[in-house]
Amino acid sequence: MKFTDTGLAEPFLRALDKLKYETASPIQAQAIPAVLAGNDLIGCAQTGTGKTAAFALPMLHRMLETLPPKPPTPRVKGKRAPGSPRPAPRPLRALVLAPTRELAAQIGESLKKYGQATPLKHTVIFGGVSQNPQVRDLRYGVDTLVATPGRLLDLMEQGHIDLSQIEMLIFDEADQMLDMGFLPALKRIVAAVPEQRQTLMFSATMPPEIRELAQKWLTDPVAIQV
Ligand code: AMP
Repeated sequence: MKFTDTGLAEPFLRALDKLKYETASPIQAQAIPAVLAGNDLIGCAQTGTGKTAAFALPMLHRMLETLPPKPPTPRVKGKRAPGSPRPAPRPLRALVLAPTRELAAQIGESLKKYGQATPLKHTVIFGGVSQNPQVRDLRYGVDTLVATPGRLLDLMEQGHIDLSQIEMLIFDEADQMLDMGFLPALKRIVAAVPEQRQTLMFSATMPPEIRELAQKWLTDPVAIQV
């Protein structure tokens, strides 16, 4: 399938052209139209199948479609007028959960590539490093957050992250997150996002625990396997 037939908007087609991606991989051909149509999705897929682009491209497309307009800021000589309030940061609308800092960082790199022709912003947070630069990025406002569950929960509990405006929730390598003991963190994160949302879940394996969670957290999902 050609990317032009997937329904992705022009800025993404331009980015893909630049990256020299010629055709959508099987998982992308199945997932992109389904996610653009607003469906929940459960995907059984290994790394190397192109699964990151399969969720990142339609997620960014939907974020761009519903990007809130920038509020006007009173300006004097190109600068914010003295005394005028700093505009509220844009709300966090998409959350991608990944088991490891390596995977989270990789997803962040992908978002940068695929969203290069858009004004969309994202940041990546994970444990094992200082939280200060992460908190600073969050304060400026991002559309998408890529996070490992432990650090996300930490920053939520400190009041640095508000998940009440989340429209899309994505679990990457869900089986590995369970193997690493993140189930209690995941439960608390899911409880903090709106029930009305689009949810995507990717997993290399589909043990009963994953099926059970998908049943609870996804609504009438399209199932794809590659
Ligand atoms: P992933 O399975 O998401 O880790 O992606 C594996 C690699 O394939 C990454 O380096 C991507 O940049 C690359 N890739 C993903 N989709 C395509 C595509 N449709 N055409 C060419 N390369 C791709």
